Amino acid sequence: MALLPTASALSQTLENVRARVRRAAERAKTNPNDIDILAVTKTLPPERVLEAWDLGLWQFGESRVQESERKIDSLRGRFPEDRRPRWHLIGHLQTNKARKALEIFDCVQSVDSLKLLQLLDKESGRRAQPVSCLVEVKVSEEPAKQGLPLENLSAFLEQATRFPFVRIEGLMGVAPLFDRPEQTRPYFRQLKKLFDRHRALFQSDKPILSMGMSADFEIAVEEGATMVRLGTALFGNRS
Ligand SMILES: *Cc1c(COP(=O)(O)O)cnc(C)c1O
Repeated sequence: MALLPTASALSQTLENVRARVRRAAERAKTNPNDIDILAVTKTLPPERVLEAWDLGLWQFGESRVQESERKIDSLRGRFPEDRRPRWHLIGHLQTNKARKALEIFDCVQSVDSLKLLQLLDKESGRRAQPVSCLVEVKVSEEPAKQGLPLENLSAFLEQATRFPFVRIEGLMGVAPLFDRPEQTRPYFRQLKKLFDRHRALFQSDKPILSMGMSADFEIAVEEGATMVRLGTALFGNRS
């Protein structure tokens, strides 16, 4: 039988990850308390969400609408009403799943087209409930990567202000995969530059720059991430 990491193992791992975030923030001379850890729970069973929540994690990331719907449904009633977790969609959203996504997620981090933005606005309007979004920017040259071409960002954000039911709170980005994490630095630096340049257009007191995953989150924090998205660093390898 395979050994599952126990809750206390997660507690140790989390402590260690938090220390690494803190040290990276100190190197960057930013406040470690301003950096959120998004626990990426894709492929994991709901029990792991509960364990993580018990340890103080309260923001969770999922990649697929269908998988998260089942998971989140099975967790209904397990959290106090005033301390519900916040769910973020970090995977690509197909337009035919936009309506369902709004029933499940508090924040859509993967907005990368005007068509999707328009649809989210229409559906959120129907619900009379604005949705938080991040714009996913494509900083990598890899053809398969999702995201809005970075040269389109200014025009996109200007247009986004016309949609009353989507609140663009910041940017999200994924660096290419490298052998050495250090190689991701220029991509994160570029995202931070775009983030700073467009700060006035984000509809939040505390705009979000979501960048950095398990392999490269310390570099991302050093370059100014306000949110890191961690799966394997917290929960081990996904099967
Ligand atoms: C899966 C995923 C993550 C987490 O990846 P890890 O390497 O396991 O930390 C973060 N962001 C996105 C967009 C993902 O799809």
